[in-house]
Amino acid sequence: MSQFTTHNFASQKVLVRVDFNVPLDENFNITDDTRMKATIPTIKKILSDGGKVILMSHFGRPKDGPTDKYSLKHLVKHLYELLNSSAASASSAGDTKVFFVDDCIGSQAGMTAEMLRPGEVLLLENLRFYKEEEKGDEVFAEKLSKLGDVYVNDAFGTAHRAHASTAVIAKFFAADKKMFGLLMEGEVSSAEKVLHQSERPFTAIIGGAKVSDKILIIENLLEKATDIIIGGGMAYTFMKARGGKIGNSLCEDDRLQTAVEILAKATAKGVSIHLPEDSVIADKFDAAANTEIRPSDAIPDGWMGLDIGPKAVGIFSEVINNSKTILWNGPMGVFEMEKFQNGTKSIALAVADATSKGAFSLVGGGDSVAAVNQFYLADKVSYVSTGGGAMLEYFEGKELPGIAAVKS
Ligand code: AMP
Repeated sequence: MSQFTTHNFASQKVLVRVDFNVPLDENFNITDDTRMKATIPTIKKILSDGGKVILMSHFGRPKDGPTDKYSLKHLVKHLYELLNSSAASASSAGDTKVFFVDDCIGSQAGMTAEMLRPGEVLLLENLRFYKEEEKGDEVFAEKLSKLGDVYVNDAFGTAHRAHASTAVIAKFFAADKKMFGLLMEGEVSSAEKVLHQSERPFTAIIGGAKVSDKILIIENLLEKATDIIIGGGMAYTFMKARGGKIGNSLCEDDRLQTAVEILAKATAKGVSIHLPEDSVIADKFDAAANTEIRPSDAIPDGWMGLDIGPKAVGIFSEVINNSKTILWNGPMGVFEMEKFQNGTKSIALAVADATSKGAFSLVGGGDSVAAVNQFYLADKVSYVSTGGGAMLEYFEGKELPGIAAVKS
């Protein structure tokens, strides 16, 4: 049982760092509430114990202090609905009240926090209206800390930032008064399972556009994985590094040497790197382009590889099928266009299939998460991570400040 689950929050003011950085349309309607929903179980547990919840979050990237567009007031109504919908309602105590103050420190925030009653929620204004938040300012962090008796970090999406509310604040709470929320616990334990307790064979599937974004993760995984599948646009830099002809496919010429080194390291360590044998090639980057199937190392000039081909799908699926641990970050092709989504969809299905046979699978990174959602496979994998950048840095082997601060 975890520290959060066993803690009794009755009558305590619980300061919860959440990630409510959701997208809004021009009328301030939330277009994707996944991040808000993900933290509702944490809030519910505190409320059902009889605790008082004080929520703090960043929202967008305001440049010059308070800006209406970036006010968290736009989220209050939806938060109320999420907390009071019949599916979410855990207690029989009736309506959960949600208050809002247009500041995150200062007398009004302090007074409203003091006046909260058990079972009530207070949402503070956007932390980033203060420059001190991103600077990790200690004085600001201490002011925030005064609002709560207990600090709960449930914002995995910002765990890689050493900001005032995500890391620095933790030093103002004793070890038994700071902890992860349920979302953060799930993220950390899934990531730890993959990186430190992986059952072998362990396959990492790395895709997406750029090699430069994924070098560190590949290098770290060379120490852990048995197999690394490389797909997406970044595969063509590797193809060219091996002497292939890649036409107009995406390529980072300044990373060719890195690709050569990664391939050599993998051989030395006995890690199998799988590159796509064939590709779906197109005569332009367009949903209506003409397409053909060609070997990935024999792409004619004027054509570009925009998805992995059928042979690659077969080989990759077999590797995935034989795996006991799977980590997936990045799509296999331009899955946003129907003509180039077969690779990503097939790999998603293979991961789901392996999971149903007992493998542990973790999917993370914005585009791979979008892909499993698009193909309705999110509940067929073991864990879908909410933190793109944080997850990437975790698997690069870095210590995340938001995790370290709570653990220390
Ligand atoms: P990333 O953010 O690096 O994970 O890259 C995701 C993006 O890579 C998606 O928008 C894909 O459309 C794009 N992508 C995947 N494969 C290719 C490819 N073969 N050529 C160009 N872009 C690609």
